Amino acid sequence: MAWLQSRLVEMGRLVVDTVLPPTDDTDIFDTLTFLDDPCCASCGYPFDHQMSGISAFDLQCARCLARRPAYATARAALQYDAASRKLVLAFKHGGHTDRLHTFAAQMHRAGRTALAHADYIMPVPLHRTRLMKRRFNQSALLARALSTRCGVPMDAHSLLRAKRTPSQGGLSAKGRYRNVQGAFIVQNPEQIIGKRLVLIDDVMTTGATLGACARTLKRAGAARVDAICLARVVKPLATP
Ligand SMILES: [Zn+2]
Repeated sequence: MAWLQSRLVEMGRLVVDTVLPPTDDTDIFDTLTFLDDPCCASCGYPFDHQMSGISAFDLQCARCLARRPAYATARAALQYDAASRKLVLAFKHGGHTDRLHTFAAQMHRAGRTALAHADYIMPVPLHRTRLMKRRFNQSALLARALSTRCGVPMDAHSLLRAKRTPSQGGLSAKGRYRNVQGAFIVQNPEQIIGKRLVLIDDVMTTGATLGACARTLKRAGAARVDAICLARVVKPLATP
């Protein structure tokens, strides 16, 4: 199945790379909000720049203080807003992979600390029926591009999505958490025991999917799990 999965990814890449020409992104990239420090030390929630004078590297947001995430750190290259949504949806559903190198460069910037000590980059897996339908796993494409760029090898086979979960769209934070519980399994524990892993996903909303993956990997013996996403939702912290 792993072989079939990688073949499908390859085929998807070939089809979309051939069909879609590169586009001029200058105007689009001018409208994006790029994320960086200062931010929550755990989940990467962006803090006001006025806080950067104090030891912002150790600060956590209210959500992470209330419940410590299963991953050590999560970082995202972009804020998920009207501008980045267009890019992400064109990539995810329209197969526009011509921006992969730019995405990988930005994810490398945002996740440089975790990548500096990582053993493997690991895409958040799709269930095989969803992979067949969509033709490619957008997280695996991002992971591969990032792996090529930073030199950390990719492991796209050890973590599997065993349960086909309904889409997270429209679910509350609690609903999202419940939806992905028990959804993932590790099929090659010997590959990840004692290793430092970096999960890759396209969009982080509440972090429920990344949390479920990180818990599964740590239970299987991973020493540390970090996460890097292309974009993340930034809701005001006062809103539950
Ligand atoms: Zn946080």
